Parts: sequence; structure tokens; C-alpha cells
Amino acid sequence: MLAPTLLTRLFGQSTGGMVWRGPGIKHQRRIERLVFTGCGMVIAGAGYWGVFFALRRQWLGVCVEVALTLCGLVGIALARRQRYITAGYAVLVPLLVAIWGVCLVIDIPTPGVPRSFHHLLPALGACGYVLLRGRPVQRWVTTAVMFVSYVLLDGLPMGLFGGTYNLPDDVRQLSNWSYNVASMLSLYLALHIMQADVAERNKLEQDLREAVIQGQFLLHYQPQVADDGRVIGAEALVRWQHPRHGMVPPSDFIPLAEQTGLIVTLGDWVLKQACAQLAAWAATPETASLKLSVNVSAHQIRQPDFVARVLAAVERAGVDPSRLKLELTESMLVNDVEDLIGKMTELRRHGVGFSLDDFGTGYSSLSYLRRLPLDQLKIDQAFVRDVLGNANDAAIAGTVVSLGQTLNLEVIAEGVETQAQRDFLLSIGCRLFQGYLYSKPVPEAAFGALVVERAREAAAMAHGLVPRAAGMAVATPRQARPGKAATETADLR
Ligand code: C2E
Ligand code: MG
Ligand code: MG
Repeated sequence: MLAPTLLTRLFGQSTGGMVWRGPGIKHQRRIERLVFTGCGMVIAGAGYWGVFFALRRQWLGVCVEVALTLCGLVGIALARRQRYITAGYAVLVPLLVAIWGVCLVIDIPTPGVPRSFHHLLPALGACGYVLLRGRPVQRWVTTAVMFVSYVLLDGLPMGLFGGTYNLPDDVRQLSNWSYNVASMLSLYLALHIMQADVAERNKLEQDLREAVIQGQFLLHYQPQVADDGRVIGAEALVRWQHPRHGMVPPSDFIPLAEQTGLIVTLGDWVLKQACAQLAAWAATPETASLKLSVNVSAHQIRQPDFVARVLAAVERAGVDPSRLKLELTESMLVNDVEDLIGKMTELRRHGVGFSLDDFGTGYSSLSYLRRLPLDQLKIDQAFVRDVLGNANDAAIAGTVVSLGQTLNLEVIAEGVETQAQRDFLLSIGCRLFQGYLYSKPVPEAAFGALVVERAREAAAMAHGLVPRAAGMAVATPRQARPGKAATETADLR
């Protein structure tokens, strides 16, 4: 009982808990502990063998063990900087080389004692498999190399130098036990992490299904602001009000909703809710001219009746379709572009607008871009974040603006957090902005108040009643802290 409980505390999922920690964060914690444990085991093993070789005055062996110890220390240093994958490679690659060397020179099977150092390889393969979850090719190659090495070394009855340097049988007998214990422990840790990841995903999926049935979602609205400071529209961003964990961000459930197909039901709800909101705005002069952007996922748009669903939502709410803008991403341009263009053209005929979200991060052929009935390009926040410090990002932002001008499309920059970013973007011709500089995504009531406040300020400014506020950035500048979440800096993806 004690061992599984201890492992669950160290590597498993925390149950309950009011504070939401996304599956990515929890996986990262487990990987962090796996890397630290692995590096610790390498250092301990290398220390033991280093002393052993030193006592026998076998200095080459001592050098190898010192090198392995250094690799373990480098792994720990990298893991402390959240470079878990690099840390993993810093240990896995030298270990693989050492295993081959040891197995061929000092651990050659004899009639009395079989070879054993290579017994670590299946465990290393399993650890690599867990570690490289977000990198399918590297994951496949690493695991395959470990497993193939195991099969080769297990079946190879001989070694190099005619066995001159082989260790005595009694020493190899003892090491056989220690390698097997280390191998089984590492294998169990890797399996435990896999099981915890799967259990967590299943629980999240079950919660998500219940959430869709029980309607635990709500929309927040983030203003889109013109260069004169007026709010000209908003982006609707879905939030999951989890009964136990509180507000769950979309990045933690949209990918799962897409994988499970729940995104179709959820996307329908978002569309209906957005259209209902547009209808409510139409009733008030301050908000009547606002446009509302809605994110659409690839799975959703691939539904054969997607066009009918959108038009039904617009008609049922009785809103002007030209107030609705659908945000697509470049990843949708990879498969069946003709079908996508057909659906977009049909919706465009009814007045619905289209924006290309996260532009510049994916793949989009310029010829497709010309054929897509788009209204707007959105400069991704990854470029906006470093637009002042990174010449490449500034050049990309400039290119998107020129492209928009050439293709006669609106260009909006998202993720604008500082006045300096906004001023630079304006100087290169971008006239629409969205970001924490103006406001974080907020509930409907707060959004309404924000629109009224900013319209009043814009009017006062136009009449010269108030000095020009910095970029009209009034909403929540103190919330704007450029920075990355923990998972963004970790190299687990
Ligand atoms: P997105 O469509 O690119 O939305 C912009 C994201 O950037 C939002 O994150 C927003 O809160 C965040 N953001 C806006 N301004 C700033 C800023 O100045 N700084 C920083 N650091 N972030 C800023 P959020 O709400 O977490 O949404 C993440 C993604 O989830 C969205 O990216 C979108 O792809 C997806 N999503 C959200 N709602 C829906 C939805 O209803 N349907 C679908 N299919 N996807 C959605
Ligand atoms: Mg968007
Ligand atoms: Mg975006």
C-alpha cells in the first residue's frame, strides 16, 4: 500500500483540489520528478562504479563514470530550468553509449553469468516514451533505438578484445541484481506516469461530457479597439465554469473537445450564445454597431451541415449576419480546402465575415489566401509579444500588414499588452488592436460598461475636452504583464 501511495504523491494525480491545474501542468510536474529521479539514479550508480574502478586503478572506467556523473548533474541543472527534454537527452544518450561500451567490453556473457547492463534499456525506452509525449517522431525514434539495442545486446554472445577486460563473474552477478532493480523501478515509474496521464484525460473527458449536458460554459468578451480608441467589436472566448476547479481556460479543454467530437455541440452553443449577445447589443445604441468574432474549430467546420447550423443560429436570434465574424486558423487550410472555400463562400453570400486567426504561425499558401473569402488577418500574439525587441517579429508583423493592404483585408493585432507595442503597430499601418492593454476577456456586463466608458472618452477626446490618454488604454493596464505561463517555457511540447 505504502509504495503506490508514495508514488501517487510523487508522480500521480492530485485528487480533488479547488485550484485548477491543467493536465499539461500536472504532466510537467510528473516529468520533472521523473527526470530528477533518473538523474539521481545515474549519479548514484556512476558514483558506486567510479569508486569500484578507482579501487582497482582502472582509470578509464573512472573517467567514464565521472563523465556520467557530470551528465546527471547537467540533467539536473537543465531540469531546474524546465528544459526537461534536453535534460532527458543529456542523460539518455550518454547512458546508451555507456551501455553499448560496457556490454561489449566489461560485461560479456560467460557460462555462469549472463550480460545484464543492457537490462536498463527497456526502462530507458519507456522513460523516453513518456518524456517525449509531445514530439511523436523523436519519441518513436528514441524508443525504437532503446528497444533494438536491447534485442541486439541480449542476443550477442560475444564482445570486444576477446573478453580481456571482462569483470569477474562475482562482480557481474551482483551488478545483475542492481541493474534489474533499477530497470524495474524506472519501468514502473514510466508506467505509473502513463497511467496517471490516461486516468486524468479520462476524468477530464467525463467532466467535459457532463459540462456540455449541464451547460457549465459561459462566454467572455475581449474588446477589439480602433486607433481612435473606440471599441468596434469583440472576440467571444469560451470559459468552463467547473463545479470543483473553478474557471478552466480553453487551452485545457478545447483540444480534448476536438479529439472527442464534443466541440461540435460546444461550438453550436457558442454560436447560439454569440448570436443572442449580438441581438442584445442591437437593442442598445452604444453597442448596436459592434461586431462579434467567434472561434471555429476545424472539426466543427468539417461538419456537412456547418453552413446550415450557422445560418440557423443567426436567423433564430434575428441578427444581422454581417455583425458575426468567424475566426478560422491556418491549420484548417491543410485538408480539403475546396470544401472550406465552398462553405465560406456560401456564408459570405449571407453576409457572415471571416478572420484568419493566429496568422503567421501555421502554413498558408498565398494562393489559398487569395481564394479564401476573408475579411481580416489577425497578427498572432507570438509576434506582437516581441515586436519591439525582435527584428524578425517586427518584420513579420510588417509583412502581414502589407499583405492585408495588398489583398484588401483588415489587419488586427492580438495580444497587444503595452502602449509601446500599440504605437509601433500603428506606425507600420495596423489600425485595429486587441489585448490586455485595453482589457482582458471579461463577462458580458463588464464588457458593456467598458464600451460605454471608452465611447465617452473617445467623444470627449474628439471635442478636445480631455488630453489624449495614452493609446486610450484605460481598462486594465496593471493586469498586463507580458510573460509566459509555466508550460509555455517548459520544453515539453
Ligand atoms: P485565440 O482565438 O487566439 O484567442 C486569443 C487568446 O489570447 C485568448 O486566450 C485571450 O485571452 C488571449 N489574449 C488576448 N489578449 C492577450 C494579451 O494581451 N496577452 C496575452 N498573453 N494573452 C492575450 P484564451 O481565452 O485562453 O483562448 C485560447 C484559445 O482557445 C483561443 O485562442 C482559441 O483558439 C481557443 N478558443 C477560445 N474560445 C473558443 C471557442 O469558443 N471555440 C473554439 N473552437 N476555440 C476557442
Ligand atoms: Mg481567436
Ligand atoms: Mg489568436
